[in-house]
Amino acid sequence: MSTVNYGDERLPERFWTKVAAQPSGCWLWVSTKNPRGYGNFWKAGTHRPAHRVAYEALVGPIPEGADVRHDCDIPSCVNPNHLRTGTRSENMRDCLERGRNAQAAKEFCLQGHPYSEENTYVRPSGARTCRTCQREAVHRYQRRNIGSAADAGGAA
Ligand SMILES: [Zn+2]
Ligand SMILES: [Zn+2]
Repeated sequence: MSTVNYGDERLPERFWTKVAAQPSGCWLWVSTKNPRGYGNFWKAGTHRPAHRVAYEALVGPIPEGADVRHDCDIPSCVNPNHLRTGTRSENMRDCLERGRNAQAAKEFCLQGHPYSEENTYVRPSGARTCRTCQREAVHRYQRRNIGSAADAGGAA
């Protein structure tokens, strides 16, 4: 992507008067913001997220259904050099990966049993299994089987 300069004429003067260029390289929106921290820019009779306006004017159209993400993690930044489009599913995948990493670091199973040495079974794949939960699952399975065997006898 070619570098875009602060004050680019493709955006109107009234846009730039609301933007403060920071030594960090971020262009912070100093006018009104929406609850998520994105700048509000009044355009064509409606408030639009300022970073999306900047992206469309200085980089190009935003693909249908895509989000504009901040590499700098500052929602009010409108510097297109810090902006990146991603589809919603890409964003979701990012979230999932972060969630999986958090899961791997967990000290307890979903039911709250500790992953202690005696309570943890490590599968050949490396996944950890809670022995307490596994034991309970086996019990449930056995109870269910006994139940359904009785059902099968009574039904039909
Ligand atoms: Zn930034
Ligand atoms: Zn458990």
